[in-house]
Amino acid sequence: MIPRSHPRYESLMMRKKIEDGVKKGIVHITGLIAHGRGEAFDYLIGEKTQPFADLAARAAARVLKNAKHAVISVNGNTAALVADGIVKLAEKCNADIEVNLFHRSEERIRKIISLLEENGAKNVLGMEGNARIEGLEHDRAICSREGIYSADVVFVPLEDGDRCEALKKMGKKVITVDLNPLSRTARKADITIVDNVTRAIPNIIKYCDEEWNEEWDNLRMLDEALNFICSRLKEIYSSGAL
Ligand code: ATP
Ligand code: MG
Repeated sequence: MIPRSHPRYESLMMRKKIEDGVKKGIVHITGLIAHGRGEAFDYLIGEKTQPFADLAARAAARVLKNAKHAVISVNGNTAALVADGIVKLAEKCNADIEVNLFHRSEERIRKIISLLEENGAKNVLGMEGNARIEGLEHDRAICSREGIYSADVVFVPLEDGDRCEALKKMGKKVITVDLNPLSRTARKADITIVDNVTRAIPNIIKYCDEEWNEEWDNLRMLDEALNFICSRLKEIYSSGAL
């Protein structure tokens, strides 16, 4: 048991969820590494939603709500961390959910679908694997014809850069959550929420009830995120806290 009073409570709870996810066969072993990279960037942004992420969540909510056919792509880490949030968001913006894994295995897809169903999801896509993301080789191209393949808007938290790029080339609007403002995924997506997926999803849900209509400049926002990280590091360094 992790005591609530522990200064790193939230962070340790997330680690526990990822660890349990690996044990249950929901998270792929390499998901531990991806989570570690995410943790490092979360540390740098202060482990809370910063204004650039808040605005991106609002922009994402608008695009998801106005989509003709939005699909939320779920991988092992996202399922282990926020299965309930994914289900709520899908309901809120009338999106389909598709389990789509970088390291595809039918057993893991089945387990993630069960977890989502335990959280109230219905008709989760992913098992059928009856279409391919164009321009990608190997199993990671496999997707659902009724899902990602035919969607106009795809929400892919914690996505790989290559797949993000391939989805863009297919003409889709891509929304992602990625704590690393330098990753290819972050730079290729139309809207990048530089925040932890556990905070980003409830935030998008909240914004689904708001009307908002402004242009979105993703690269400008990524610059802001990088500037924020740089000035925070300088501040900590010059305060003598290190
Ligand atoms: P790319 O292929 O886009 O250049 P990458 O190779 O840096 O990305 P991967 O290791 O493939 O990234 O995927 C993990 C990404 O997900 C990292 O950028 C990491 O910061 C991010 N990430 C990991 N855990 C979380 C989380 N809980 N919330 C948000 N982002 C996360
Ligand atoms: Mg990558």
